[in-house]
Amino acid sequence: MAYEITRDYIRTGNSRSGQSIGTVRFIVSHDTGNPGSTAYGNRNYFNTQQPSASAHTFIDDKYILEIIPLNEKAWHVRSSVTGDNRRYGANANDAAIGVELCHGGKINFQEAYNRYVWYHAYLCDKFNLNPNSHIIAHATLDPARRTDPINILRTYGISWSMFIDDVEEALRHFNGSAPSPPRISKPPASEVGSVRVKLPIGEGDSGPFVRDIQQELIKAGYRLPRYGADGIFGEETENAVMKFQRDYHLAVDGLVGPITLNKLQEVNHQRVSSTDFPLPTGIYRRGDQGDAVKQIQRALKQINFNPGAIDGIYGPKTEDAVRRFQSMYRALADDGIYGPNTRKYIRMELDD
Ligand SMILES: [Zn+2]
Repeated sequence: MAYEITRDYIRTGNSRSGQSIGTVRFIVSHDTGNPGSTAYGNRNYFNTQQPSASAHTFIDDKYILEIIPLNEKAWHVRSSVTGDNRRYGANANDAAIGVELCHGGKINFQEAYNRYVWYHAYLCDKFNLNPNSHIIAHATLDPARRTDPINILRTYGISWSMFIDDVEEALRHFNGSAPSPPRISKPPASEVGSVRVKLPIGEGDSGPFVRDIQQELIKAGYRLPRYGADGIFGEETENAVMKFQRDYHLAVDGLVGPITLNKLQEVNHQRVSSTDFPLPTGIYRRGDQGDAVKQIQRALKQINFNPGAIDGIYGPKTEDAVRRFQSMYRALADDGIYGPNTRKYIRMELDD
C-alpha cells in the first residue's frame, strides 16, 4: 500500500524560514489539537496567517500534504525543551521532521491514521531512521505543555507502542519489496494554491477547497442549514459569504477572494494572548460566583474547554472544563479547582 504525497508549499515568512535543515535525525509526531481542521485548512492557515510555528506535513483522511520542504526547518517544538538535545544532540526544529495528524470533525480517523503510519514509515525509509528510537511524540519532548499525539491516539484505542509497531510493520513492507516510490501529486486544479492562483472561488465551484471555505464559514457562525459543508458552492454558500462580507465591511460580491479568505481565517484563528483574558489570582471552586468566575469561564472558552454559559457561576460544567483542562498537564491535580497553578497553565495556553 502506497499513498500519494502532495507537495503544496506555503510561501516563506514566519512559518517558513527557508533555512536548511541539514541532516534529518528524527521525527516528531504531533496532532493538530484542533478537531475537524483538515490538511488543506491548516495549509491555508499557515500560508496566510504565518504564525511563528509550523510543521512540515499535515495528514488527514485525503491528503498527505507537505507544506514545508523536508530539507527546510519548521517550527514545531519549543526550543527551550531539552529532551531533543539530550536524545538526539540537536534541537527538534534543527534536525527533525514535524508531522501532524488531523483528526475529529468529519475526518475519517482510520483513513487519516493509515496515512500517518505510512508516512512515518516513508520518512524512516527515506532518512534511514529506526521507528523505535527515532520517532518521538511531541508530548514526550514537552510533557509539561503537550499531550499530542498520545492522547488523541489513545482516545481511538491506540497506544504509543501500538503506533510504533504499526510504523515498523509498514516499514518492513518498504524494506521487503523495493517499493515503488510514492506518487507525488500536485493537488487538483480546483484546490491547488487556490489561495494564490485560483481565487476567487464562487458559485458553481466545487471540491475540497469549497468545503474548507464552508467549514470556515460555519465556524465563524454563518450557518449553512440546508446543505452544510458539502463542497459545492451554491446559493446558500453565496448568501453566507455575502452576509459575512457585509458584517466585516468588505466588498459584497459573494465571491471568496484573498481579502475575504484572509478575513475569514483571521476571524476563526484570532491570535489572542493572556493579556486579552485577565484571570483572577485566588482560588475558585464549585459554588463560587462573580466576575472572577466569569473571567475564568471566558478564558476556558477561548482555549476550547467549554465551561457552559459565561454566567459567573462556577457550576458543574465549569468545574468539568477546569478538570478536563487540568488532565492535559501532569503538573496539575485533576480536582476541578482553579488556583495559581491552573492559572499559570491557562495563561500559557492562551499565549501559545
Ligand atoms: Zn505538537
